[in-house]
Amino acid sequence: MIRVSMGTLRVLGMELLENDADPTTAYLQLYEPGRCSQNCGFCSQARDSKSGTENIARGVYPPRETKTVVERLAKAFKHKLLLRACIQTMNYEAMPYDLLYLVKEIRKTSGMPISVSVYPLPEESLRELRRAGVDKIVIPLDAVTEEIFDKVKGAQAGCGYTWQGHLSSLGDAVKVMGKGNVGTHLILGLGETEEEACGRIQMLAYSGIYPALFAYTPIHETSVRMKPPEAGHYRRIQVACHLLANSISFYSRMEFADGKITGYGIAKEYLDAVIESGEPFMTRGCEDCNRPYSTEEPGGVIYNYPKTPTEGEVELIKKQMEQGL
Ligand code: SF4
Repeated sequence: MIRVSMGTLRVLGMELLENDADPTTAYLQLYEPGRCSQNCGFCSQARDSKSGTENIARGVYPPRETKTVVERLAKAFKHKLLLRACIQTMNYEAMPYDLLYLVKEIRKTSGMPISVSVYPLPEESLRELRRAGVDKIVIPLDAVTEEIFDKVKGAQAGCGYTWQGHLSSLGDAVKVMGKGNVGTHLILGLGETEEEACGRIQMLAYSGIYPALFAYTPIHETSVRMKPPEAGHYRRIQVACHLLANSISFYSRMEFADGKITGYGIAKEYLDAVIESGEPFMTRGCEDCNRPYSTEEPGGVIYNYPKTPTEGEVELIKKQMEQGL
């Protein structure tokens, strides 16, 4: 069995549901009947969480038969309905074998690009994944700083993960996959300042690692209990992330006051054009990943737009950018 997001099942013709944005990537998760052996405070799959294991952030991932899913993935890729497969994992003993098996099964039937999102693995396992056909490896830091990491997915959360271990594994992944083929996830709203987020994104960009931004999503029965991030905080970091990841600006040129971004290090006309384009507010991550509404509440802030924001949406975003300054 394999867990598959509801949006992906719709594209595969395996679920009927209304949707205003289909995923461009197939979102999959390895199936394991138990819970993750780790205990990240924001995750429904965590060892001590009482939440259902079918959820990842706001997404629901019901289990389906692997053979059927793999066959349909090949057809969907052939017809350009899905452009990438993303395999998310949890920490359990047989995970590396299950992951390799699934990558090989997908590769047997199609040339679909494959991303895997994994916790730090030995360098040889990363090489094996690359040889099996994985083109992007993502090792989620989730936290922007070491201090937040310790609280939400390190020792204080009852996890075996360490900040240095994650950074070192990201470095190994860049050695194995090359710059631009390694990513990480950053969850915003866990207590980081905008200045800290910009510093981290700059360090990642220099290392050839692309960040995908997520809004913290409170999930029932998990240990971290915070509010989702303020729209202004998220929007300003999105703009900075777009500028830093594309080397349009640099952390050293940006200005901050009380931890908030007050200058982006580029001319106002240029900044206005970047904001008007709507691009900084679209989902970031691996190529062709749009993760529709994975962290959005119905009727709430759309943190990551799965397609180019409309003129009206850009007007709303501009107002949100001023919030909290
Ligand atoms: S950025 Fe998207 S495709 Fe890449 S690992 Fe994250 S969710 Fe998957």
